[in-house]
Amino acid sequence: MSTGTFPSFEATAPRAYQMLIDGSWVDAATGETIDVITPIDRHRVIATVPRGRAEDADRAVRAAAAAQPGWAALTFTERQRALLRIADDLEEVVEDLAALTALDTGNALRTQARPEAQLLVTAFRYFAGLAGELKGVTLPVGTDALSLSRRLPLGVVAGILPWNSPLMIAAFKLPAALVAGNAVVLKAAEDAPTTILELARVCARHLPAGVLGVVTGYGPEVGHALVEHPGVDKVSFTGSTATGSGVAARAGERLAHVSLELGGKSPCIVFPDADTDDVVEQVLLATRFARQGQSCTSGSRLFLHDAIHDSFLEKLVRRVGELRVGDPREEATDIGCIINQRQWDRVQGFIDEGLAAEGVQVAYDGRDTLTVGEPGFYHAPMILTQVDNDWRIAREEIFGPVLSVLRWHEEDEVVAMANDSHYGLAAFVFARDLGMALRTAQRIESGWVQVNQGGGQQVGQSYGGMKASGQGREFSLEGMLEGFTQIQQINVRLS
Ligand code: NAD
Repeated sequence: MSTGTFPSFEATAPRAYQMLIDGSWVDAATGETIDVITPIDRHRVIATVPRGRAEDADRAVRAAAAAQPGWAALTFTERQRALLRIADDLEEVVEDLAALTALDTGNALRTQARPEAQLLVTAFRYFAGLAGELKGVTLPVGTDALSLSRRLPLGVVAGILPWNSPLMIAAFKLPAALVAGNAVVLKAAEDAPTTILELARVCARHLPAGVLGVVTGYGPEVGHALVEHPGVDKVSFTGSTATGSGVAARAGERLAHVSLELGGKSPCIVFPDADTDDVVEQVLLATRFARQGQSCTSGSRLFLHDAIHDSFLEKLVRRVGELRVGDPREEATDIGCIINQRQWDRVQGFIDEGLAAEGVQVAYDGRDTLTVGEPGFYHAPMILTQVDNDWRIAREEIFGPVLSVLRWHEEDEVVAMANDSHYGLAAFVFARDLGMALRTAQRIESGWVQVNQGGGQQVGQSYGGMKASGQGREFSLEGMLEGFTQIQQINVRLS
C-alpha cells in the first residue's frame, strides 16, 4: 500500500537525493554527485546521490556525537516508542520500499525485495521489544556494600552497508544500535543507496536530529573517513572480506569497536537418506539463486553423496529449469538482475574458468533458455558438477548464480571438505537421520548451520561468521548487548 508520500520512479528524470545530516537533507560539501543506475537498464539513471567525502563524514559524526547523550538519556520506554512508530510507518510503505529495492538492487520483488522490506519492519518491532533488556546486575556483596553494573551505549556507530540487500543489512544493525542508546551514521553502498535514504526519511520523523545520519558516496572516500574518524566509537561493517580486513585494521589502530559481516562459501551437505523433492526445494533456497546468488550465506558448494548424486541432481536441475529469470519488478519473476557490469563480468569469468576445468560436467546451463538480457545485467543459473574442492570456483565467493557440485563417500571426508575453506559463515545439512545431521552440523566450522532447511535469517537469531567470514554478533538479544553496549561497574561502600 502506498501512502502517497513515497517518490515515484516512473518519471524519466532522475530523483536528486540528499544526505541526512543533523536532521537536515543536505548536499555534499563539494556539491558533487554520483549517478545511480538501475541494473534493469544500464542506461537509465534513476537517481543522483551526493558524493560525500571526509568533510561530510565529519559533519555527520559530529552531529551524531552531539545528539547521542540526549538519546541515551531517554527512558527505555521512550526509545521503544520511537522504534515502534518507525516500524508502523515503515509498514505503511513496505510495498514502495520493496519496489524501490527491485529497481535499485535488481532483487526480484516476490522472492527477495518484499521479504527484505518486511524483515526491516519485523526487526524494528523486535528490537523495540528488547528495550527493557538493557539491564545491569547487582552482586550480593554484603549489607555494607553495593556492587552494580550498568549497560551503556558505545556512542556513535558507523554502519557500513553493501549493495546486495541494503534494507536487510540495515535491519541487522540499525534498530539494535538505536535501542541501546547509540547514535548511528549509515554509509549506503554506492550501487544501491536509495532505499536506505527512504528508510532514513521515515526514521527522521521519529528520532531527534542527529541520532541517525546517512551519508552516500564511495567507500574509499566517505566510508574510509568514517572508519578513521575519532568520533566513531564502533564500526559495524558488512561487505567483502578484502575490504573488511582493511577496515578492521584501520579501526583497530585507534581501538574502535568493530564488527564484521563478510563473505562466505557455504557448504550444503546432502546425506543419502535425503534424496527427496522436499529437500530439493530447501537446497534451492540455500543456493540463493532467487537472489542471483548475491548472498553471503549462499550454499554455493553442494556436497552430494555418491549414492544419490545423479538422482538428486536430476530433480534439482528440473526445478531450477522452472525458475524464471526476468524483470525484478514483475511478480512472476524468480530471479532478477546482477548489480552492475563489473559484477556481471566477474561472474562470467568464474563461469568461463569452471567450464574450462578438466573433468567438469555441466549439469545445468540456464543461458540456453535465457530470454532477457541487455540493457539489464541478467545471468541465468549455472550448475557444474564433478567439481574439485581445490578449484577456484569451489573456494572463492563468486556472488553469482553458480553452483559447484562435489561428490562425497564418507562422513569424515565431507566434513573435512566442508571445513577446508577460509570462510565460515553459513552451512546446510540435509539428512532424515537427525542424529547424523546434528552430529555433522556440530562439526562444521560455520557461524550459522541450518539442518533440513535452507531459508534466510530469523529475527532474533544469533547471526555472524567464523574464520574469514567475520567477527561479532548483533542481530539477537545477546548480539545487541554484546555488539552495541559496554559495561560500567560501580562498587559502593555503604557504611
Ligand atoms: P564491499 O566490501 O565492496 O563494500 C561494502 C561497503 O563498504 C560499501 O558501502 C563500500 O562503499 C564500503 N567500502 C569500500 N571500501 C571502503 C573503505 N576503504 N573504507 C570504508 N568503507 C569502504 O562489498 P560489496 O561488494 O558492496 O558487497 C558484497 C560483499 O558483501 C560480499 O563479499 C558479501 O559476501 C558481503 N556480504 C556479507 C554479508 C554478511 O552478513 N556476512 C551480508 C551481505 C554482504
